[in-house]
Amino acid sequence: MPGLIDSHCHLQHPAFDADREAVIEGARQAGIVRIVVPGWDLPSSEAALELAEGHPDFLEAAAGIHPHHAAEADEAAWARLELLAADRRIAAIGEIGLDFFRNLSPPDVQREAFARQLDLARQVGKPVLVHDRDAHDAVTSALLGWDAASRDVGGGVGAAPPGVLHCFSGDAVMAASLAERGFLVSFALPVSFRSAVGPRAAAAGLPEEAILVETDAPWLGPGSERRNEPTTALRVAVEIARLREVAPETIAGAANANLARLLGTEAIRG
Ligand SMILES: [Zn+2]
Repeated sequence: MPGLIDSHCHLQHPAFDADREAVIEGARQAGIVRIVVPGWDLPSSEAALELAEGHPDFLEAAAGIHPHHAAEADEAAWARLELLAADRRIAAIGEIGLDFFRNLSPPDVQREAFARQLDLARQVGKPVLVHDRDAHDAVTSALLGWDAASRDVGGGVGAAPPGVLHCFSGDAVMAASLAERGFLVSFALPVSFRSAVGPRAAAAGLPEEAILVETDAPWLGPGSERRNEPTTALRVAVEIARLREVAPETIAGAANANLARLLGTEAIRG
């Protein structure tokens, strides 16, 4: 397989403290060519930036406040996030979104944090990395409304993808409605579970221009107690290829090109 990207991997997580550089080197050796490292709060966003600084052309940092952490963010945190978002080394705003499964922050607080970060992304002209768990309708309407407003102020046809639905868990209709507006849909290892009917249908039916591959490491690994790693992206690409009845190389090539469009970078070599 040619080089493959991992569009969502939390390499700054403490689970990698003991061997982070070895994991990064192992990913390179296995053929991973680019990894996006999203934050989940302020310290992890700053850590993503610092880590990416040490690995130019391999790691891309994103900054954002995850819905689980929305209630913790005070005005000082928001001020720091605004500075970080405007930093040219930050590639995207994420991860942000809604999680009505665990509700670790109250739903109203999540909605407010999500809307605030969508506004911030528009101000700085960067794409969003979106977490959606049991919040499909709310996420879809927020993103479509935000995208329509962004187009009024200068986006539109030919513009870069406005964002990514990370670890997609919705159905094929939701995926298609967002892909139609230019959003990318990223799949993680759960797409290989038979029970993941909606994501599997989405992965099979989306246009190639909408597909991304990710691990969400250290989460969503192959074994419940085993730490996930970026190399799992290869298994995800193979599974999507199987669902679409194409070669894994086709999926790797599409995911690389799609990530390059998202980040506004040159084609990613692999
Ligand atoms: Zn994540």
